[in-house]
Amino acid sequence: MTEVSVAKEDVAATGDLVVLKSVNKHFGALHVLQDIDLTIARGEVVVVIGPSGSGKSTLCRTINRLETIDSGSITIDGKPLPDEGKALARLRADVGMVFQSFNLFAHKTVLENVTLGQVKVRKKDKKEAEERARALLDRVGVAAQAEKYPAQLSGGQQQRVAIARALAMEPKVMLFDEPTSALDPEMINEVLEVMQQLARDGMTMIVVTHEMGFARSAANRVVFMADGRIVEQATPDQFFSNPRSDRAKDFLSKIL
Ligand code: ADP
Ligand code: MG
Repeated sequence: MTEVSVAKEDVAATGDLVVLKSVNKHFGALHVLQDIDLTIARGEVVVVIGPSGSGKSTLCRTINRLETIDSGSITIDGKPLPDEGKALARLRADVGMVFQSFNLFAHKTVLENVTLGQVKVRKKDKKEAEERARALLDRVGVAAQAEKYPAQLSGGQQQRVAIARALAMEPKVMLFDEPTSALDPEMINEVLEVMQQLARDGMTMIVVTHEMGFARSAANRVVFMADGRIVEQATPDQFFSNPRSDRAKDFLSKIL
């Protein structure tokens, strides 16, 4: 695969990249995020786990402002999240997101999917954007699919294109919200391997997943959420071998 530098700055620099302080969020009467304090350092890989409905997706969505918050603060690289306009589009480029459902543009080719944002938001010229797109498609192992449409690809291939599309924007941090949950079992590893490589290359990553093998091998830290709170944070070794809270013990007994 071609070498593409996606995380140079992240490796070179140090310090906190994503900082959430006392973040609260309600959906009507539901207090979905409760006093969330979370700091993610440059180059760190944080896996977020917890029962369904505990607020993991909402947490991810607040970080690229797909959801607003009621109180508290979120900063990326020391800057508060912008409210609207071009600054918001740039934030969404800085914070790459890969969802459970493959949300590629259905009426655009794979190459166009990975090129568009670079031209529109990052103001690259088309040729340069296409070169980068092809290199990234090669890196995630789908270079041969460049001229196809998303529906012609397997779920695993589509998800790898989605990763390439986010990386094309030169994000500072990548959010993954259960990226393999909708995949047939035989396709899960091809996506996890791309994510593993990204982690090794020094990308800052927040990953919501039930893939505990990935958490053990790629995560610097596991964040366990329940009922809208961060209940426990630890290294994967500590968390899996010696969970402290009853909630975590109960959760692990059900999934391991
Ligand atoms: P998780 O990803 O951990 O399963 P979510 O963040 O998706 O949890 O959801 C947390 C809670 O918030 C759930 O009870 C869910 O039903 C609720 N919720 C999520 N999104 C919305 C929304 N847009 N409107 C109302 N309730 C929501
Ligand atoms: Mg979710």
